[in-house]
Amino acid sequence: MARKIGSRYTVHQVIGRGSAGTVWLGEGPDGPVAVKLLREDLASDQVLVGRFVQERAALTSLDHPRVVGVHDMVVDGSDLALVMDLVQGTDLRTRLEREGVLPPLAAASVIADVADGLAAAHAAGIVHRDVKPENVLLDLAAPPGPGGAPRAKLTDFGIARLVDAPRRTRATRIIGTPDYLAPEIIEGLEPRAAVDIYALATVLYELLAGFTPFGGGHTGAVLRRHVTESVPPVPGMPDGLWRIISECLAKAPASRLRAAELASRLREQLPVLAGLPPLAVPAQRGPVEDVPTPGEAVYAEVDAGTGTHRRRRGPAVPLVPAPSPDSTRDTHTSLRRPSPQELASYAAESRAQRSAAPVTSHRRRRLVRRRRMLAVLIATVLLLAGAAAAYSAFAAEPPAAGPAHAAAGGPAAPLGPPV
Ligand code: ADP
Ligand code: MG
Repeated sequence: MARKIGSRYTVHQVIGRGSAGTVWLGEGPDGPVAVKLLREDLASDQVLVGRFVQERAALTSLDHPRVVGVHDMVVDGSDLALVMDLVQGTDLRTRLEREGVLPPLAAASVIADVADGLAAAHAAGIVHRDVKPENVLLDLAAPPGPGGAPRAKLTDFGIARLVDAPRRTRATRIIGTPDYLAPEIIEGLEPRAAVDIYALATVLYELLAGFTPFGGGHTGAVLRRHVTESVPPVPGMPDGLWRIISECLAKAPASRLRAAELASRLREQLPVLAGLPPLAVPAQRGPVEDVPTPGEAVYAEVDAGTGTHRRRRGPAVPLVPAPSPDSTRDTHTSLRRPSPQELASYAAESRAQRSAAPVTSHRRRRLVRRRRMLAVLIATVLLLAGAAAAYSAFAAEPPAAGPAHAAAGGPAAPLGPPV
């Protein structure tokens, strides 16, 4: 089904869905493009449309190989569309779900690419504000990077900022994906470039470990962890990457690396990461069947109204077209998994409990109960034996002649003949 967008573009099929709208495969005067049609409620908001038009220059000016370029913005009747480079490949979320955690070299290379894109944006004064695996596209048509790692591009620049400008945002609402939110945003400070570094380091951690450092449970719990908790270590994480992640997840924005520094520090690590296998992490669970363990569901896209958030996602352009490109796969849950150390300590704790006091007292109670039952049994047997003896003694006694007997209720003595 083809559909015209403005006078220059035609879209054919849905290739992805996100929080702000639907992404279509389209055709423009210069060849294939990706067209993001913003959600109806956003497109019909005149203030928002005005803002997009105002920002048109900034959004379309970012021209960098590691950024998905925006060529055009179309306001056509009720449609508001962004026309972008078409990326042949998949997004990082889909890659993580399909193939699990990445080998350290590939993870570092992908994140270094994204850091390059961020460096260009930050230099132009643009903060992304929604760095997460869904917004990183792997360009599988491009020649691979170091060690065969796919080349990555960052998409969705500035959209979060436009959609989330003050008039549209309830005072209590935080927009963003909780797992990737820097502590200063939660504390109400103006988001600056360092928020993107924090989010990108969170993505690196997730690519290596399979879960985010502060995700898991109610949105409020996730936000609190960002502000108060230190980054949980991951067994087997290469030291160099661990140091970089720790620096970029610093609570103080000024202590974090800058984007260009992050890219070069990661690339310095590539030689020592070559050949390292992916970290051994607990088995990944499927997206839909994921049943949150008590208090452990993690979703994305905050809805502060309900206090929960959930992630919507969709594929980038598949290299081989999928049978139903229009299918919505918007239910995704990811768990914050306990580390092997946490699991080991839980096991030790429960072993200790089993062999400690409560178990002993339980055994003692059982013993007492058995003894009591035995005593009752013996008493019953003795009683029955006594009763039987008394009965047989009574039954053996000859009928007595005498008033005592009669008085005792025994058979009456035959009366003598009447006188
Ligand atoms: P939103 O901002 O609404 O969350 P995204 O820009 O993240 O939407 O797009 C949603 C999905 O669409 C992405 O995860 C990706 O799979 C696909 N997609 C987005 N942009 C492109 C593109 N330029 N080329 C190919 N696929 C894309
Ligand atoms: Mg997006």
